[in-house]
Amino acid sequence: MRDQERLFALSPGGDAARPLKAASAAVLEVRARQTPCPLCAGEHELLEHAAVTHEGVRLRKLSLRCRRCGSERSLYFQLEERLLS
Ligand SMILES: [Zn+2]
Repeated sequence: MRDQERLFALSPGGDAARPLKAASAAVLEVRARQTPCPLCAGEHELLEHAAVTHEGVRLRKLSLRCRRCGSERSLYFQLEERLLS
């Protein structure tokens, strides 16, 4: 794995253990596309938006592919559903 890719995996959202927080599902896809590719700073396209569970926490996993260099990665979000209750 390249250094930039490893750093991305260690940053918030790069791993299921460190999800980004998001207020609603509606903003996830916009935020994912606005996250630049760690390898070439290109724009991501969204391949898949899935609901996953990691250690009992419900997360959204967005599978991304860079439009410029074609590398693929995942971004994890946790919805702040407490705000709704
Ligand atoms: Zn790229």
